Amino acid sequence: MSGTAEISVWDASTRAVLVQAVTVSLPAEIGRVGADAQGRITDAHHRHVTFGQGLGTMSRQHMTITPETDGSAIVRDESSNGVARIVPGQPPMPMGRTRHEHMPAGAMRQFETVGLIIEVALPRISRVISPGDGLKAVYESSSGKDKPLDIATACVAVMDEGNGVQMEQIQAAGVREAMARLGDRASRCLAVLGPDGAGHSTVLPGRDDAILCSRRALPGGEPHPLKDLDTVEAGPLRIRITAPKREKFLVCVNPACGQMNEHDPGGNCRYCGTRLGDAITRIQPGTGA
Ligand SMILES: [Zn+2]
Repeated sequence: MSGTAEISVWDASTRAVLVQAVTVSLPAEIGRVGADAQGRITDAHHRHVTFGQGLGTMSRQHMTITPETDGSAIVRDESSNGVARIVPGQPPMPMGRTRHEHMPAGAMRQFETVGLIIEVALPRISRVISPGDGLKAVYESSSGKDKPLDIATACVAVMDEGNGVQMEQIQAAGVREAMARLGDRASRCLAVLGPDGAGHSTVLPGRDDAILCSRRALPGGEPHPLKDLDTVEAGPLRIRITAPKREKFLVCVNPACGQMNEHDPGGNCRYCGTRLGDAITRIQPGTGA
């Protein structure tokens, strides 16, 4: 788990700014350091930002900020003297017995403690997805028609529902993030297809042998790059991958095969050797062909 927070600190009575919006990687810690009793903000890489002096009432470890997988974070009061949350228009509210505050992604909170105001702001979850390689995906629907799937700007999870599979679109910047978002449900996920965050379309199998990609069983948890004419098989579902400009391909009629081939009706299936003369010509939706 990682993430960042922007932290500002000022003096509660004089309003003097001690730290101006410093961005730190999480988890981070706020506390007291050294003979001058300075304040410190320590980031995930053990880098310090120090502020003020004579802060004897601040605990050595005063507050911690711990990131969660969904972009939220937990602010925890570890101090001897207590931390209160500042709610506009109300007196400061002590953090209470649980001594923590859950902050959603994009939230900003102010806390008052030992004469300081500490402001914590979390970034919004990034929806920016790096442009992929433009690979297209279709799946055969129950009506027998090919339907497009967006794996360029979103991730698609194939879930094992016991009596079949179901597809679910997940807004995430990459397949690993999408898998993490499934939480406990990840154990039922056969695979996530989508961008890898570095410009490539990939498939991330949920576990060993959960899926086949072009007849190949893939190890679980390892993203595998997709390419033109790959067929991803997850249970009864077949997802067909094509290059952005591909208009046609042939699907082998051997029921044990069913793989994709170049549109060459005179040739043989590259997987099983079945003559492609009888194969089914498929047109990719949206290519204008
Ligand atoms: Zn074949």
